[in-house]
This record gives sequence, C-alpha cells and structure tokens, in this order.
Amino acid sequence: MSNSSLVDFTLISPNSTNPRNKKISKITIHHMAGNLTVEKCGEVFQNKKRQVSSNYGVGTDGRVGLYVEEKNRSWASANRDNDNMAVTIEVANDGGANWHVSDVALAKTIELCTDICKRNGIKRLNFTGDKTGNLTMHRYFAATACPGDYLASNFPYIADEVNKRLTQKELTATPEIVECLQKRGIITNPGLWNVKCESDINAYWLARKIANLTKNKERSAKLESVNDIVRELNYRGIMTDSMLWLSLLEKDKDLYWLANKGCNMTVNL
Ligand SMILES: [Zn+2]
Repeated sequence: MSNSSLVDFTLISPNSTNPRNKKISKITIHHMAGNLTVEKCGEVFQNKKRQVSSNYGVGTDGRVGLYVEEKNRSWASANRDNDNMAVTIEVANDGGANWHVSDVALAKTIELCTDICKRNGIKRLNFTGDKTGNLTMHRYFAATACPGDYLASNFPYIADEVNKRLTQKELTATPEIVECLQKRGIITNPGLWNVKCESDINAYWLARKIANLTKNKERSAKLESVNDIVRELNYRGIMTDSMLWLSLLEKDKDLYWLANKGCNMTVNL
C-alpha cells in the first residue's frame, strides 16, 4: 500500500493503529477548524494526549501533509470502522464564513481524493448524504460541526469532480487533441495545430497535456509573462524542463498562446 506522491511535508503521528484492519474503500474529509499550515497540523498530531490524527492534511496554500501512512488507521472520525476503511483528510479553513476553505485547497483535495481512489482501486466516489456512501463526514459519527457547512455543501461537487477524473480517458491522438482544444475555445486554427503537433514533439506534448486538463475555474489573476507561465505549468507537473520551455515560449508565439491559455483556464490538473 502506497502513499500519495502529492505530499509536500511528512510528520508521522504516534496517534494511529498499525496496520488498519480493513481494505481502503472510503474517504472522509474533515476540516481543521482553523487556518493551520500542514506543518502546524502535523505538530498538533504529535501530541499523544490529544489522541487525534488524520492520514493527510491540506493547507490553505494547497500543500499536502502526510501524518499517518495509508496502510495505518488514523484516529479522525470517532468511529473505528470508518477509520479502518477510510483515508482521512483534514482541510484548513481560510477564515471565511461557514468554515470556508480556499479554492486552491478545495482543488487539491479533489486531486488528492482522485489519487487515493486510483491507487486503491476505488472506481467511484459515492456521496449519499449518509454513512452508507464511500465519501463520509465526521458529523455522521459524532456530534460535531466537522467538516463545516462550506465543505459539507461541496461534497456532491467533490464527488462529481473526482468521478469525472476517474472516468476520463486520456486523449493521445493529434486529431482528438486538436478537436478538443478547438471545442474548448483554446485554439481557433486546427489546421495549424494538426501540422504543428505532428512535426514538433514539444508542441504535441503541451497540446496533449492541456487538452487533458479538466476545466475547473478561471484564475482571477491571469498569468502573462513567460516566466510565470512556465513556473505554473512546471508546478503542475506539465513541464519538467523549465529552461527548455522558457526558450520555446520566447521563440514561438503559437506555443506561448497555448501555454498561456492552458495555465489560465484551470486551477488544478
Ligand atoms: Zn473531523
């Protein structure tokens, strides 16, 4: 059993039962009831007296913490059965009303849930509004406000977005990629892009990555400079060789256009 590669910070908590005694089949999303960084949350879970932990945490900045390895049972939901079956995630509140969480944290939570489902063979996240589903809330098991009204109201959205990603087939053929980009209004000249993708491996790579992004939310502040665009696409794992892409985007206005559109249209992978 593996842990997520999305993890930015690890601090293993002593508060867990090792190993869990059931196969992972559920996810339980909690809120931190505060704007804790993943480091601070990890510190809280170091305290044995508190007897609490979660498998993962997501900060307001979208960073991910690992506190209890997936193979072990976290002490999160006041229900042994649930925690034996569930991977538990604590999400930071950004200070907004109704225990709001940031868009970045919400997007990262969706990405993390998708990753957990893929690695553990969970085909679909079913939100039923009660404990019979495999996306559960702390408040189903204890008298608590957790996960807060804002996150709770987003559970159907989270399940939908995860399921979209689980069923999405990756587009790999140039004509499908170009058609998809045209339909989404990212490009207007399919002839040009068909030729370009067939003759230029970097153009094909970028077009394929961007065509396979799931459109989520428009960014509020658009990224314009080549530096910012490359940094963003690099951060999202779309590009790995920053030097190469800095020079490609400086030289080629069509590639710049595609990269600009791609990084400004979507918040998450
Ligand atoms: Zn909770």
